[in-house]
This record gives sequence, C-alpha cells and structure tokens, in this order.
Amino acid sequence: MTNDDEVIELTPIQTTHIPAVIPEIEVGAMSVESLTAQMVIVKEAMTSVMKKDEHYGVIPGCGKKPSLLKPGAEKLCMMFRLAPEYKVIRRPMENGHVEHEVVCTLRHIQSGLAFGQGVGSCSTMETKYRYRTSDRVCPKCEKEGTVIKGQEQYGGGWICWTKKGGCGAKFNNGDKTIEDQRLERVEYDNPADYYNTVLKMAKKRAQVDAVLTVTAASDMFTQDLEELKANGVIGDGTPQYDNDPPVPTKKPQAQSKQPPPAQPDLDSKLQDAADWLTSSKDIDEMSHTWGQLTAANTKATMKKLEPIKNKHKVELIAKQEREDAQP
Ligand SMILES: [Zn+2]
Repeated sequence: MTNDDEVIELTPIQTTHIPAVIPEIEVGAMSVESLTAQMVIVKEAMTSVMKKDEHYGVIPGCGKKPSLLKPGAEKLCMMFRLAPEYKVIRRPMENGHVEHEVVCTLRHIQSGLAFGQGVGSCSTMETKYRYRTSDRVCPKCEKEGTVIKGQEQYGGGWICWTKKGGCGAKFNNGDKTIEDQRLERVEYDNPADYYNTVLKMAKKRAQVDAVLTVTAASDMFTQDLEELKANGVIGDGTPQYDNDPPVPTKKPQAQSKQPPPAQPDLDSKLQDAADWLTSSKDIDEMSHTWGQLTAANTKATMKKLEPIKNKHKVELIAKQEREDAQP
C-alpha cells in the first residue's frame, strides 16, 4: 500500500438468515477436516443444488474445468455456513482510472473463526470498462452518435436525428460517407462511471477466490474464464472491432486460380483459420483466436475446426491443468 491508497470499506457482513440448502450435510460441515470430504460435499452440491450456467459454467473450447460463478460461490458459502467480510483498497490510477483491490475473509458463522481469505482486483483499465464501440459520425455536422437508420416506410437511408442533437441531414441507403465508416474501439470519456461496477467485480472475484480456497473447490472449478469472457478475451459472439486483429479469410492465390465461386471456398478458408489458430503459442492466445473465429464463422465451420483446435490444444491444456493442480 502507498499513501495514495485508501481503505474505503471494512464491513463485516451481518448474516441474519442462512437458508438450509442441504440440511443433511450442512451441520458441522466445516468440522470435517478432510479435504476429500469437502470435495465430496462440493461435488454433491454440484449435482444436487448447483445448476450449470447459473452457479457454474463451462466455456466452450477453454478446458474442461468449469468456472465458479458468483451465485455458486454464495451457495457454497451457505452450505458451509460461511459469511464473507470484505476489505477494500482503492488505488487511484492515471487519467481518472481506479483500481479496487479486495480481500475477502470467510468467517464461520457459528464459531466466528476465519477459515481463509481470497483476493480479487478490478480496474477501470480493463477492456470491458475502458472501451466502447464508436458511433457513426454525421458527415455534415461531424457529431458522433446522432446518425440513425431511417425507417423503411419513410424511405430508409440515414438521418442525423435532431432529437439526439443532430443537424437533421438525410443520407441515402448505401451512402459511403456513412456506411464505410469504421466502428472502432474507443475509450470511455469518464472512467468514474465504472467505479462502482469494478468495485463489485473485485469483490466478486475475491469472494470466488476465497470460496475456491476455503472449500478446496479449486480442484473442480476455476475462476478466470468468466472474466476472460467478460473482457472479450474469449469470444462468444462478443463484438469484433475494426481495429482488432483481422480474421483470416480466403487466400488470395486461391481466388486468382479460379473464378469467384458462388459459395466461399470453404477448404481454403478452413486452412487459413486452422493455420492462424495453431500458430497460437499459449492457451490464452489460442482462446482469443478461437473467440475471434467463432464470432466470424458459422457453426458448421467451427465444427470442422474443432478437431484441429483440440489436437493443437491437448498439450496446452495438459500444461494448464498440471499448473492448476498445484496446491
Ligand atoms: Zn448532422
């Protein structure tokens, strides 16, 4: 901590009502010292009360280990009778950005004992909170965000809408000054709009981290994939930007050999995509690439790419899982 840091919260959570989620195992769950027994409880919870995509989720193409989501972490806290306490450190950064670092302590409700801690941080410099997609700019008044698509019944085209502060100019369908504009990733004007969001995110990460540690659930869950997805590192139809790395398309030489086919040259496209994918050097890079491919291709194409990805990925995943298995 430096002098600029500021502890803004140190709040014991008053838990007044803890629903009995699984009565047969909740009593004295934390007195069970064996990690194996804890894992059995977590596994039971996974099959009996925890729902996929609500409490935990598996991100396609990113390993087999599911991510523990916030509701799942809360459920495990209830089962083990743990109440989270948060200590928040707020760290100012350049240009109005801020980072929140949170330590979450899990305290056993009946005994009051602290069973363990987790840490999490989040800043407005993260992709998701730092950038937005730029809007179209009116070629006449040069305002951004005022141009809307005209309704077809009134002739379509584009309108610089006066109600959004525009100049009222109209443009035809296909007008290149509008339609050829590149929508790019730009920084938000005011990072402060996201202070509260990143604080919540940091608390969530700290709690999930603490739950994974204290309940020995980290053998079954991971934490980071959801965050990677939220930040657009792993794609799932998240928007792609013009200033992102390009998604490969057909090879130019394939085009020159033959007249333009009615259908895209799938083999050539697949080959390019596969080359691009297998050039990834680590799991994050490959996940990113896969996400971009997913956003740019049909399900059929992705299905054909899947075996190529899996083959290239086996070693990377094995390596990651060995690292995850380290205590
Ligand atoms: Zn205008």
